[in-house]
Amino acid sequence: MASEEAGPSQAIAPLQVLYCAVCSFPPEYCEFGSHLTRCKEWLQKEHTDLYDKYYSDEALQAKMGMLSVEAQSKLEKDTAKKEAKAEAKAEATMKKKMASQVTIKRIERNKRKYVTSIHGLEAFDVDLKKAAKLFAQKFATGASVTKNLQGQEEIVVQGDVSGDIVEMIEEGVGILKSVPKDNVVEVEEKKKKGGDA
Ligand SMILES: [Zn+2]
Repeated sequence: MASEEAGPSQAIAPLQVLYCAVCSFPPEYCEFGSHLTRCKEWLQKEHTDLYDKYYSDEALQAKMGMLSVEAQSKLEKDTAKKEAKAEAKAEATMKKKMASQVTIKRIERNKRKYVTSIHGLEAFDVDLKKAAKLFAQKFATGASVTKNLQGQEEIVVQGDVSGDIVEMIEEGVGILKSVPKDNVVEVEEKKKKGGDA
């Protein structure tokens, strides 16, 4: 933006710092991250001038000229290794997510009194406290994060809202949008006759 266009409240232009959309470092530091190949693709597409500045043949030659052949090949190997590791990690994370289930359970506590437990949201990077707050507001009821018998955290919402929560996930409401609807399982836990389980 030209400084002439700045409004009175913007008399001092904010410092514009560009960050790489892939690794979030400033582009001149992408090489220290683990995604250089994708960083370069991004930079070439979005900021061709900077790409040329850092990665054109001349720029690379100038840089490599200062390194020995041995150091060059080590640098290239290290980069490849680092990238392979990062890609493998990303793939493992994705696989884990695909295999993770969100279980929404309707639990009968007393005759016609229900609570709904939601387990497994954290696998999809959902903040459980925020999700509990979302459910509490949406259903105007109590919702909290508690530990289940297995010691795992889950959200417990007062009342039978299991169907509504499944719908919220299907519709991708708020922070639930990262949860794939195919990973949601709805179950029911009936109160056993003759007392608590
Ligand atoms: Zn980058």
